[in-house]
Amino acid sequence: MELWVGFSAGRMEWNQQAEAIWRKFESSVVLPFTYSTFRAKAYAGPISGKAAAVLIGPGHPDFRRHEYARIVLDRQFLDLRDDQPFLTLLHESLHLASFQTYLATLHQAKRELVVHHDQCEELQGAELSKCQLAFLLADQLFEADAEFSLVTRYPDWAGARARFFVEMRRQSAAAPEPTLPPLLRGYALLAEMLRLELAALLVREDGDRDDVATLRRTIETAMLSLDPATRQQLDYLRVRLSPSRPDFTSLKDWGPDVYRETVGRIMSTPGSV
Ligand SMILES: [Zn+2]
Repeated sequence: MELWVGFSAGRMEWNQQAEAIWRKFESSVVLPFTYSTFRAKAYAGPISGKAAAVLIGPGHPDFRRHEYARIVLDRQFLDLRDDQPFLTLLHESLHLASFQTYLATLHQAKRELVVHHDQCEELQGAELSKCQLAFLLADQLFEADAEFSLVTRYPDWAGARARFFVEMRRQSAAAPEPTLPPLLRGYALLAEMLRLELAALLVREDGDRDDVATLRRTIETAMLSLDPATRQQLDYLRVRLSPSRPDFTSLKDWGPDVYRETVGRIMSTPGSV
């Protein structure tokens, strides 16, 4: 399987830099996944976040003849400091390792839904936000898995990763809130709540633990201001997507159904919510 690494927004002129970034990372770690050949290749579209990993296989619009793995870096990646670039690439590599093996069925479920929903970018306004939030919420299953996997497979890095994860939560709390209709705002709050639940499971230092507790209270309060029907819908999804589920370790079994149900529920909420 080939591995493509490059920047988003079609930045071909940064291909060399992308390759240098990858080579440096690769020389400093035992990779959790395998690949045959490397290609430095920019990705035409935008991505949300600092980096993204995807396995392109049959059914995906970018699939040609062979399956390949892709890591896309956003411009924001260049703002990362110290061990953050390493931790980000390790996280993306753990995603690829899971897509290739134990989460292949879950990843396939996502791929089919993405194709079915014609990729969010082609939508506009509230429909676009709804589509992005649907996948953002369902993707929290992959996010929790990758974080747990880092703790298990790279225990020496778990403390640094937890600090970085909490740092990202602080940044996200400081970011201006998007203006969204109430139910969609509820989904955005739930996505952050699930990340904070995950942060609470990862933190190791008292200062970080206190910050996570404070951030959780802020989101809880914001959720309480939503109407009861919205809260009921959010509570339903929260139980299913929670990284604290006692059966989280069997994600590969229950994940595909929960992924499909989450995206289906959110996509079928009326457009004017
Ligand atoms: Zn991730």
